Amino acid sequence: MKVSIIGIGTVGAAVATAVKNTGLVHEIVLFDRDAVRARAAAEDLGHAAAFSYDVKITAAANYRAIRGSDIVIIAAGANQKPGETRTDLLHKNVAVISDIIPRVMANVDAKNVKIIMVTNPLDVMVMLARRLSRLPAGRVIGTGTMLDSARLRVILSRHLGVSPQSINAYVLGEHGDSSMINWSSATIGAVALDDFCRQTRVSLPAAAKRTIEYRVRNAAYEIIRGRGATWDGIAGAAADLLRCIINDERRLLTVSVVDGSGDKSVAMSMPRVIGAAGVISSVVPKMTRDESVALRRSGKIIRKNYDTI
Ligand code: NAD
Repeated sequence: MKVSIIGIGTVGAAVATAVKNTGLVHEIVLFDRDAVRARAAAEDLGHAAAFSYDVKITAAANYRAIRGSDIVIIAAGANQKPGETRTDLLHKNVAVISDIIPRVMANVDAKNVKIIMVTNPLDVMVMLARRLSRLPAGRVIGTGTMLDSARLRVILSRHLGVSPQSINAYVLGEHGDSSMINWSSATIGAVALDDFCRQTRVSLPAAAKRTIEYRVRNAAYEIIRGRGATWDGIAGAAADLLRCIINDERRLLTVSVVDGSGDKSVAMSMPRVIGAAGVISSVVPKMTRDESVALRRSGKIIRKNYDTI
């Protein structure tokens, strides 16, 4: 299994480490327009690999080195500075993705390759990458709200005193400020969230849910304020998605892919079954009226941003 990563900044380097640590990949190619940075990252990671898995890690001087990649992960482009939103990155990163995708496609097997998008604003970048690559929608996959859903599960787990592994709760829609928390479909194991709270005598009033929502949506801003960027969470999400594809695991993950066609098409996160072929199917969970209004609004915001490029 050969994986190439384009963009070896803070996120790309962390993703490379997480990919190496899956132990599922025999070759990792790192490409950055800053060749010195990519070479240094490949060296450092290669040394780390000597303590773990036998994996060949190289820096690519040009795109020919990505030939034969099964999966290409794109983490290149501008990141948020303190106070910036993901949407503020739109025009800078349109230029970056427009530069990268044609070069990637000229060097991979379009019949099999899967592209994992990480660059923000994520959903619009998925739409752009899908258009430029002409790949089937199910093979251009954004990590989407996998990270937001993980943040929700972790914050909820602390409130409920139960492992995040037992929490099924989704953040849907945009990987951004308009994301929607699908409280009404949340379960702990097979028990509905509100039922679980009643039976375990944990109080989760509407005000507590609003605070949790705020913390989930603002997690990236808080982390960027504290350490300049976010990288560990997204690296975990990208590696988990990769594992699901490589092992054909068919888990339900909230990833972003383009749904629909023409003027109405949009990429946003919904629960989707992921396997070796990419996205196998998508499902719509139970939603209240307010939740479905919020999800539609989120889709419209993504589409409107896409229409400006
Ligand atoms: P960074 O500035 O540390 O690194 C970006 C890298 O991209 C740099 O090394 C740069 O040289 C490279 N690059 C830029 N243009 C390129 C091009 N045309 N070809 C090849 N390489 C190019 O930024 P970062 O913190 O690593 O963030 C990268 C992206 O990941 C940002 O858009 C950020 O918002 C996004 N991100 C996404 C999530 C998510 O959940 N999807 C989470 C965190 C960060």
